[in-house]
Amino acid sequence: MSSSPPRTRIAVIGSGPSGSILSALLADKGVDVTLFNGGKRPDMIVGESGIPALVPVMRRLGIEDAVAALAQHKPGATFSFGSESPIQLSFRSIEGILPAYSYNLPRPQFDQIIENRARRSETRWIEKEATILVAPEGSNREVILDDATLALVPEWQGEQPDLIVDATGRRRTVAKLLKIPVKTGPRKDAAHFAHYAGWKHPGPPGQIIISRTAFGGWSWQIPLKDCMSVGVVIPREILNSFGATPGERLEAAIARDPILSAAGPDRKRISEVPIYSNYQLISDRAYGPGWAAVGDAFGFVDPMLSPGMWIALRSGECLADLIQAEGGNRWDTLLATYESEMRGRLTAWQELIEKFYNGQMMAAYATGESFMKMIPGPLMKIFNRHVDRHFAAMCCGAYTERPYSRKLLDFVCKNPRGFDPKDYAIG
Ligand SMILES: Cc1cc2nc3c(=O)[nH]c(=O)nc-3n(C[C@H](O)[C@H](O)[C@H](O)COP(=O)(O)OP(=O)(O)OC[C@H]3O[C@@H](n4cnc5c(N)ncnc54)[C@H](O)[C@@H]3O)c2cc1C
Repeated sequence: MSSSPPRTRIAVIGSGPSGSILSALLADKGVDVTLFNGGKRPDMIVGESGIPALVPVMRRLGIEDAVAALAQHKPGATFSFGSESPIQLSFRSIEGILPAYSYNLPRPQFDQIIENRARRSETRWIEKEATILVAPEGSNREVILDDATLALVPEWQGEQPDLIVDATGRRRTVAKLLKIPVKTGPRKDAAHFAHYAGWKHPGPPGQIIISRTAFGGWSWQIPLKDCMSVGVVIPREILNSFGATPGERLEAAIARDPILSAAGPDRKRISEVPIYSNYQLISDRAYGPGWAAVGDAFGFVDPMLSPGMWIALRSGECLADLIQAEGGNRWDTLLATYESEMRGRLTAWQELIEKFYNGQMMAAYATGESFMKMIPGPLMKIFNRHVDRHFAAMCCGAYTERPYSRKLLDFVCKNPRGFDPKDYAIG
């Protein structure tokens, strides 16, 4: 008699976007998945601007219609970093590469849609926080679920799962437990954000606006269906000069900045003001014997250009695609492949975002525009369109990791003719 190999057992800790997509996709392919849900999500969650690369992920999960019903259609992004008129990027320039749109997402509701998708799968759902411990010496794994957590899954009969996945976001449970070193980014900003009613937006509808602020940091305006999400990213050294409370600081920042204060006197804050600080952080390791980390639990680059949620979802997708439902998983190789793909992705985004902060990207754009005026003609037009398409596809998540696009961007960024990157840099 032949017996079928045992099903792979995975414990996912955390039901944010990365944990929910991972659980849904694993359960769809027949893996024995248990998800531990850490409780109610907050009413305000930062991360409301989506990039076009999110759309194929939503389609894979079969949730795009549900998202479209509550999210704001997003046709592009406007950047205002220099003294000239703002640059309006339309996602139409990536037609044929990715869907030429994305969404601005009310996060608690969007997260709930992904969570519901996981709930509709065969995922075993445990409404309790999981407790993870360092494994005892001599064990072939680095971390384990404690006895009380394991007892919540009687089907596993006291046996540890094949893999524990840390999807606990910035809590980074396993990395902290194992004291894994991190690489932090150069920026030490604090982001404050809130929702506003009556906020005047220059359009087009749904277009997000990213602008350098008069005081050195930068800001976002993300139109949601029924309000405007407004965020300011303030360098730490000057934070206290804006006020004592988060609300005071956000209002002072808006008042001090001409682009934000153009929102008009009718604006009214309708939410609390959450703060996020020191968020540029990537762990030196995303896996070890018996565990892996997805989403922010592995790393987060920066809010600039909004790649966070897509990277978090892609990490869940990437790991789910590598795991087989029944036996045969060569964990070391599989997890090394996962980490290498995700680290490459985070590094590519870091590289791209740095070019926004140091002003190279905007100086290159201004150079292209001025060449178009000085040397009009079909060849210059074709070259400029080629460069624009690659820039746009990198910012939208399609070409960010492509060697050719990265080299092209490096080339144009290193040759700004007559435009000084310092004039566009964000201090
Ligand atoms: C200032 C700022 C601006 C941002 N702006 C954008 C943006 O515009 N666009 C964008 O795409 N991204 C943005 N992001 C990033 C984005 O919000 C995150 O990358 C994304 O939410 C990460 O998802 P996650 O699933 O990894 O973690 P999370 O969403 O944090 O989910 C983690 C979950 O784990 C649960 N949990 C924790 N511990 C336990 C436990 N022991 N047991 C069970 N459950 C547990 C928590 O309750 C939570 O539900 C921004 C981030 C910052 C800091």
